[in-house]
Amino acid sequence: MIWAVFVAVAGLFIGSFLNVCIYRIPRDESVIWPASHCPGCGEKIKPWDNIPLVSYLLLRGRCRGCSERISPRYPLVEALSALLAVSLLYRFGLTVSFGIYYAWACVLLVITFIDIDYQIIPDRFSIGGIIAGLVLVYWLPVTYRDALIGLVLGAGLLTAVIYGYYFLTGKQGMGGGDVKLLGMIGVFTGWEGVLFTIFMGSLIGTMFGIPWAFLRKKDLKAAIPFGPFLALGALIYVLWGTQTIDWYFGLLG
Ligand SMILES: [Zn+2]
Repeated sequence: MIWAVFVAVAGLFIGSFLNVCIYRIPRDESVIWPASHCPGCGEKIKPWDNIPLVSYLLLRGRCRGCSERISPRYPLVEALSALLAVSLLYRFGLTVSFGIYYAWACVLLVITFIDIDYQIIPDRFSIGGIIAGLVLVYWLPVTYRDALIGLVLGAGLLTAVIYGYYFLTGKQGMGGGDVKLLGMIGVFTGWEGVLFTIFMGSLIGTMFGIPWAFLRKKDLKAAIPFGPFLALGALIYVLWGTQTIDWYFGLLG
């Protein structure tokens, strides 16, 4: 319980750093320097106004200097980071696997919001993740064989889907970024995780994507990036994959 509180608080502060990554990495800015400033007035944010969640609530979502609205995404990312940290702690206990999967979840969180903003998934996360994963898998409940099959299956399946989609419609569907992302997910989850992620990602993507595309009056592919749904599917697999699969096959009898 003490650990859960500690991990949640650490998760909030790490989430605050993830916000910096999401904002600065696509702009090619350093994530370390300079200190955070308000995008409205450029004023440096004081340390006591930079406490995750708390400052946002105290300031009622506005900059102290210029009263410019602060995006609710900042507290959202902080809360998600803390939530993932605690959920993974309950799933894996205080183990090395927990630490690795939390770092991986942070990368997926950053990828998600960069993909939403720019429709790109930076190679440093996908390819970097593949390389890091192949080293770290030693400490994960995934065998080397499964990690390699996961990598090839993940990247291969999506490549096939992209070519198939292009062949059928003459349009480019998903991008190469999604291919590398699913390959990276495969290293950390194994091939079963890849199949689960595609299934779950498509299911949730369709559930949210169709109304979203309808509201924006765009076709499905133009309206939403697929990366966030792959990330979400992968996280569900690592946290509750076995239970979900058991439940599903239970339904089938
Ligand atoms: Zn300001």
